[in-house]
This record gives sequence, structure tokens and C-alpha cells, in this order.
Amino acid sequence: MHQAGDVRVEDRDDPTIIEPTDAIIRLTATCICGSDLWPYRGTDPLDGPTPMGHEYVGVVEEIGDAVTTVKVGDVVVGSFFASDGTCEICRAGYESHCVHRVPMGSLGTQAERLRVPLADGTLVVVPGEPDDRQLRGLLAASDVLGTGWFAAVAAEAGPGKTVAVVGDGAVGLLGILAARRLGAERVIAMSRHADRQALARRFGATDIVEERGDEGVERIKQLTDGLGAHSTIEAVGTQESMMQAIRATRAGGHVGYVGVSHDVELPGLELFFSGVHLHGGPAPVRHFLPELVGLIMDGEIDPGAVFDLTLPLEDAAEGYRAMDERRATKVLLTL
Ligand SMILES: [Zn+2]
Repeated sequence: MHQAGDVRVEDRDDPTIIEPTDAIIRLTATCICGSDLWPYRGTDPLDGPTPMGHEYVGVVEEIGDAVTTVKVGDVVVGSFFASDGTCEICRAGYESHCVHRVPMGSLGTQAERLRVPLADGTLVVVPGEPDDRQLRGLLAASDVLGTGWFAAVAAEAGPGKTVAVVGDGAVGLLGILAARRLGAERVIAMSRHADRQALARRFGATDIVEERGDEGVERIKQLTDGLGAHSTIEAVGTQESMMQAIRATRAGGHVGYVGVSHDVELPGLELFFSGVHLHGGPAPVRHFLPELVGLIMDGEIDPGAVFDLTLPLEDAAEGYRAMDERRATKVLLTL
């Protein structure tokens, strides 16, 4: 991305092993994330041309001398932070906060080849050869499914619970799938787009609320005996969406927030009296990947259904336009 609205596919030098813990992978497919739209729309300023992308599935081409858990030829998937898997934070299940973490977006996974730092901690080997449907699922697991899953876990979605989901982008939609898999009895999707409502239903939403803001909160309360949801997933990152999530949640309930926060300021007194738990941030996707890879390869879940436009990598600029104009929910780029 050269500047806001200006995406070009250009040749860069091939990545090479720099640290003995690195691996080089050849990407099988990659995709465009809703968070790539923040710089595309100029909300996040860019400091000159920047490689883009942080989601990836690929085949290992080369490994550094210290790499032991992946080998050349393995099909692998990882998440948007490289992590060592060994520090105290990783072992506690918060790999996205690893003390040695490396943001994969800084390396740019919308590419043919990629250097993966801390390969042993970062990459998960996929058993067998994924077919096209599984490949799409694995790519979703790399970020949007893993993030939606963490949001559902952070919101303590589970049996007997009513879960509200704020945001109908890929993460919100897959948060619905996650909440249902975790046993939630009822999942209320907040969406006003017919195509996304249909996908929300497919992923297990039991109710749809089209209203937003205070009216949306009011509808959630009407559906929950005036109490609010037990668990709310916040998957947007704006002031409005965050307050909608907090206000839609009952006292003692949990908000799992994973929309990248943009100028959100929480009113202390309202938070104090709300009695809700807040937990979120950049999702430790790596923590959930082994389980998610298993569910996808076993055909238990089909998160790849979230991709509604597929383009070759060289047409990445059109993919960004399609997502920016909401003509696509999520774009898969083939190589
Ligand atoms: Zn770590």
C-alpha cells in the first residue's frame, strides 16, 4: 500500500532466513482483512509504501538450523503475531502478547513467499492435504475465525447463555459460529445487511437485530427479559459499537472485545455501575489454532464460507476496493 486507497502488486526481494528460528513458506492463499481497511481509508496513516497482509496458509520451503517442529514440505498455518510459545505469557495462553512477538503485518503476507519468525512457536502443521474448502477454512482460522473464537471465549459464551454480537464483518460472523460451538443457547446477531444476516443464520444465529445504538440495546433487552445478554462480542472497534456492547450486557455478564479500538473512550462512572466484565484485545489466535485446524480438517465447521470474493493476488487492488465499498465481506487471494 503506497498510500490510502493506493494498492499495487509489485516485485520485492525474496525473503531469506535471517534468524535460525525462521522458516520460509510459499503461500497457498492469503486474504484481505477488515483491519487492512483502516490504512486503506486513511484512518491509520501510512509512512510510505508498506507490505500488507497478516493471514496465511502455505508450504514450508526452507527452515533455519534451530527449527525442529516443522519441516520442508509441511502445510502450515499461523496467526498475525509470530510468538515463541515458550515465554510465560505464551504458556498462559496469550501468544499475541508474547514477549518476543513479531507482527506478521510488518512482513506482509499478501505475497508469494513469507519469512515466518519463531517458526516452532508460530506455525501449526496441517495434517494431510487440505482440499479447497478446507484451505478456505484454514485461512479463516489464521485470523478472523481465531479472533471470533477468542471473542466468544472472552465473553464466556457457553451452555445456557444468550450471546449478542455487535458487528457483522467476518470476525463478528465467525464469533457467532464460535459461540454456538461453545454451546451458547441463543445468539443474537446485530446486522442490517441481508446477505450478512443470511450468513449469520448459517453460522448459527437464532435472532437478528437490525437496530443500532440505543435502539439496538433496547431490542437486546426486550429479547432477554429486560436484563441484557450474558455475553457480548464486540467486533468493530468504534465508540458506538463498544458502548452498544457494554450497554447490551447484563450486570455480571462479559464483553469480549476484539474490534481494533479506534478513539474509544470508556466513561468510568457508567462502567463502574454496569457491573460487566471486559476482556479482549488482539486475539491469541495461535492458542486456538490446533483445535480449529482439527475441526476444519474433520469437516466439523466451515468458516471458509465467510469468503465471498476470490481473486488472484495480482488483482489485490480490486479486492481492497470491493471490501471498502462493502461489495465483499472478505476477499481471498489465490496464488
Ligand atoms: Zn512467548
